[in-house]
Amino acid sequence: MKYSIPDYYHQFNCIAMECEDTCCAGWEIMIDPKTLDKYKNVKGGFGNCLQNSIELRKGAFKQYGHRCAFLNDDNLCDIYTELGPSMLCDTCRTYPRHMEEYEGARDLSLSMSCPEVARIILSHEERVRFLTKEKKSESGRFEYFDAILYAKLSEARNCIIGTLQNRKLDVNLRAAISFALAHDIQNRINSQEYSTMDRLINRYKTEKIVDCMIDKLKPYQCKEDIRFEIIKKQFAILFRLEILRSEWSDATRLAFDQLYGNGSKEYLGNRRQFLLYMKQNEELGIQFETILEQLYVYFTYTYFSGAVYDENAYGKMKLAVISPLIIQELCQARWQIKGFLTFGDVVEITYSYSREVEHLDKNLKKMEKLFGKKKEFYFEKILISLLS
Ligand code: SF4
Repeated sequence: MKYSIPDYYHQFNCIAMECEDTCCAGWEIMIDPKTLDKYKNVKGGFGNCLQNSIELRKGAFKQYGHRCAFLNDDNLCDIYTELGPSMLCDTCRTYPRHMEEYEGARDLSLSMSCPEVARIILSHEERVRFLTKEKKSESGRFEYFDAILYAKLSEARNCIIGTLQNRKLDVNLRAAISFALAHDIQNRINSQEYSTMDRLINRYKTEKIVDCMIDKLKPYQCKEDIRFEIIKKQFAILFRLEILRSEWSDATRLAFDQLYGNGSKEYLGNRRQFLLYMKQNEELGIQFETILEQLYVYFTYTYFSGAVYDENAYGKMKLAVISPLIIQELCQARWQIKGFLTFGDVVEITYSYSREVEHLDKNLKKMEKLFGKKKEFYFEKILISLLS
């Protein structure tokens, strides 16, 4: 079994009571059946408390004031303290570690919905490297798995991540080139032309492609007025999703009004100033370009290869470019409201986005569906959002 991890994977340690937004509050924590059985057999006073604080029908911990019943006033977990780490359910034991599973391969990652993970990823100055290791382990059974498509997608993902990390280019240009590659890959998936994918990917690995793409992408630059209408609609996808926390809904509504409420002229003026501010913002401790690179790479690494299950590589790449674009818009709105933007703000915006979008499968599916239907997510429109 081949395991892949990003190079920061082992840097993570839960900061527990120091965490500004614990994962033990704000969402329902489901208990796996094996652990649920163990909980049913715990005896004594704590056993009673345990059994009374579980919604047996749902297999979830009860919540009081949106907090897990076992989260104490010090923001520590009573199950961990009373019974030890081995009695945590799968979700609590593994979070924020995430795994995407394929035949013969597992991609491990850390979920950016955890504030500490968001801090680790967004402060990572170097290009992220992905480390692989062969380990003996049982492979899950796959009724049907297209190994050839998976191999092509893995190659394409490596090429895309390489492009996203090409620091000689503007970060949004890198994203646009990567997006164009995913578009071309999708055409070949649709027409079952797997054999020509290698040639395509190899072409995107050459230096020559950059000059050629810069020329090809010129028509999508300097269209700020059109971009205003497009990005406004792209942002509004957030209002079509299921909401986990009402604060998120309030914050995104406020951001929308701040950004677009006074028309395109004001938006464009603010955007110009915001981008200038971010270039000079030393408080961030890291270039804003690097933060964006890490976001593009994170979403590509986590989701792109999943196209082996639904043949929708293009939809996965749309998520990988639209997410950083929306996070960027949310950063601009926060800056407009406060007059400045700290690294902590960027972290908070990012993990909140990730919680709302990534942690509800329903939301991810809905986004992919809307990406395929709505005009604002057509190829040309996304290129304008990236390049203008
Ligand atoms: S969100 Fe992350 S850092 Fe905070 S308590 Fe959960 S795992 Fe720990």
